[in-house]
Amino acid sequence: MTNLPDLAGLKPGGKRSTKREQIVSVFLRQEGHLSADDLVDVIRREDHRISRATVYRTLQWMVDAGIARKVDFGEGRFRFEHSYRQPRHFHLLCTTCHDSFEFLSSDIEALLAEVATARHFTPEHSVVQIHGTCEKCRTGENSSSVDGHTDLLFARDALRIAIATERSGFEFYSKAARITKDARGRKVFEDLAQEEHEHMERLEARYDELLARDPELETRPTFLFFKGAAHGLFDQGAERLMKGVNDQQALLIGIRCERGSHRFFKKYGEQFEESEGRQIFLDFAAEERTHLDMLVREYRALVSRQGRRRHSVDDRSGRRAAR
Ligand SMILES: [Zn+2]
Ligand SMILES: [Zn+2]
Repeated sequence: MTNLPDLAGLKPGGKRSTKREQIVSVFLRQEGHLSADDLVDVIRREDHRISRATVYRTLQWMVDAGIARKVDFGEGRFRFEHSYRQPRHFHLLCTTCHDSFEFLSSDIEALLAEVATARHFTPEHSVVQIHGTCEKCRTGENSSSVDGHTDLLFARDALRIAIATERSGFEFYSKAARITKDARGRKVFEDLAQEEHEHMERLEARYDELLARDPELETRPTFLFFKGAAHGLFDQGAERLMKGVNDQQALLIGIRCERGSHRFFKKYGEQFEESEGRQIFLDFAAEERTHLDMLVREYRALVSRQGRRRHSVDDRSGRRAAR
């Protein structure tokens, strides 16, 4: 509670703010997606003096204050979920038990943005829902719930994306170093491969720290789905390297990969509320930015070296011609 962004109106004092405080704190202790009536039931169990109208009013206040988010699962009534510290997500909805399960997907986000841009549309918000039968209703097993672990799962999956990107970056720079003839350019690729490798180890250590906080973490279901999103960039770059390129082209391909990666992680990370996962994305974006700057510097240096070489050749042939 002390971390809430706006506690105005929640200060102890008036009777009304005490009730509000009580309702907010009960709401924040609940998992999942509650209807207004669900919340009334839970609150009435704790304090029967709180009226339905007060709960409704407080829910609306929480929506306006950005503490709760309204979601519509097509049931003819709204449900409410925490919005504070909760990343934007999509839902799987069971039509049998009416339970709901959350997931994130950078691939879906990227596709939605692509569609909106292609259709000259300014998106405000998008709803993606999968309606069907949950595992528990179908088999009695329940391995698909991420309830109560979303922060940790988000951090885990953010790290998985970062590590996968780092690994493909490492492979890219190792290949680039092998094919580059210019000694200075080769050194830059070797340095970057080395950096990617060290950073990968740091990320893996961070991943292990997360696992230590929850021994079951590895077995919990995927929360953030990504396929092509970020590391596809380096894979494409590596493919182009193998087709045979000169030193300058190799640097340009690297620049394109790092720029794409930096932009992706920055844009993706920034859309989330403050959380460990967001921080992982933004830290990673900053590292990619450093790599990008390094490559751009090297590209300019290479072009100017080649220019000087060409000039001195021109000078010599010029002198020859003058003789
Ligand atoms: Zn179900
Ligand atoms: Zn939700």
